[in-house]
Amino acid sequence: MLTLKDATLRREACLVGGEWIAADDGRVDDVTNPADGSRLGRVPRLGEAETRRAIDAAEAALPAWRARSAKERGTLLRRWHDLLLAHQEDLAALMTAEQGKPLAEARGEIGFAASFFEWFAEEGRRTYGDVIPSPQGDRRLLVVKQPVGVCAAITPWNFPAAMIARKAGPALAAGCTIVIKPAAQTPYSALALAELAQRAGIPAGVVNVVTGEARAIGRAMTESPKVRKLTFTGSTGVGKLLLRQCADTVKKVSMELGGNAPFIVFDDADLEKAIEGVMQAKFRNAGQTCVCANRIFVQAGIHDAFAARLAEEVARLRVGPGAEEGIQVGPLIDAAAADKVVEQLDDALAKGGELLVGGERRGATFLTPAVIAGATPQMACFGEETFGPLAPLFRFEDEAEVVALANATEYGLAAYCYTRDLGRAWRLSEALEYGMVGINNGHVSTCEAPFGGVKQSGLGREGAHQGIEDYLETKYINMAID
Ligand code: ADP
Repeated sequence: MLTLKDATLRREACLVGGEWIAADDGRVDDVTNPADGSRLGRVPRLGEAETRRAIDAAEAALPAWRARSAKERGTLLRRWHDLLLAHQEDLAALMTAEQGKPLAEARGEIGFAASFFEWFAEEGRRTYGDVIPSPQGDRRLLVVKQPVGVCAAITPWNFPAAMIARKAGPALAAGCTIVIKPAAQTPYSALALAELAQRAGIPAGVVNVVTGEARAIGRAMTESPKVRKLTFTGSTGVGKLLLRQCADTVKKVSMELGGNAPFIVFDDADLEKAIEGVMQAKFRNAGQTCVCANRIFVQAGIHDAFAARLAEEVARLRVGPGAEEGIQVGPLIDAAAADKVVEQLDDALAKGGELLVGGERRGATFLTPAVIAGATPQMACFGEETFGPLAPLFRFEDEAEVVALANATEYGLAAYCYTRDLGRAWRLSEALEYGMVGINNGHVSTCEAPFGGVKQSGLGREGAHQGIEDYLETKYINMAID
């Protein structure tokens, strides 16, 4: 049984216009613990009607929120940040219970989530416009930034708090209001954040959270002309669907979609640093992040030493329920997720891959981290996002070959490269068709830097000073002064 120091953080109702509501028809959805399949509780199963009311509440709250100064909005965001940190332990425990990740990672995610509120609390005060030198003496040309308006956010289960903060932070800082639909698997983290938004003094209707029927909620959000922007993090398939749905009302969109990250290790790399980097880039969150190393390319000269060291490190990973002390790899989110990784593993072995370690299914959702040598582009793990603890090693000979292989995907989110040759590091940074490149490190996400992808990995950027632009409109004012 999950016990929290502050039991009221565990909300089983949705926040709409400052009220905690149930579904109109009283329907609920179970929330389960992926570590053991036990039921944690139930949250409302809302549909279109309740979502429309949430949008109305966000619209009603917009004028007053927009009219506050950026400094005032920043003060409230800062309070929200402080409350996340004050309740870090409870929020982490809730997250591990519903999502599965090890407690240490869950604590880290709460800190990461809070960092977006802090960053955007400050960044909101710097949404500068321009004064443009006029071609005519009697005219003045000005550019000002204004909030987009009511925003809708649809978020995934892999980072149940951070993906909300990365959207709500800039939206609120810019003067927008927001309706958030968290993933069905992880509603408690979202509802706890909503509870803390209220405690921070963020006015009713500025932050709304609706749980329930994904398709119906998504439809209500995308059809509504009141919603001026949709921000989504999730699979490329659902992202494409939502993009199409947004076309009819020509909404602004931000999309953080799938990845297929190459992790490239050249002969001249520092072997131990590369191992440390790949362990982080591959196995964090049990491999369930969109920036996880998906395809590990290792140059022929260092390949065997790298494979042996990686297998050794992977064998040491402690797999088990995330709530247990010292666990490094928790369960996958559900049995279907584990099935998909096993399918990729079987496919790789059937096509000549060699299993160096792991690959053992334990119960419905646990999988011991696996390393496969001899991976080839014909395998499913080359073309598909794995989203699990499977590390395929592809041997390569030269730079041109590996750049071509790394770019041979429709995705373009994160890429990693290990080399001590400065020229090569520079060439690779430019040649890799990815939105983010880690050189000699396996962890690139931070609130100060722009997160996002190219190609089918998405549209827009989150975090950094660029992150608030996605929530602002540019208005041009041409003033005659004669
Ligand atoms: P995953 O496969 O990792 O669960 P999804 O893209 O399915 O990723 O889920 C990301 C978010 O999108 C979740 O909040 C989910 O409920 C939501 N979602 C899934 N399908 C739809 C849909 N048709 N309309 C709106 N939201 C959806």
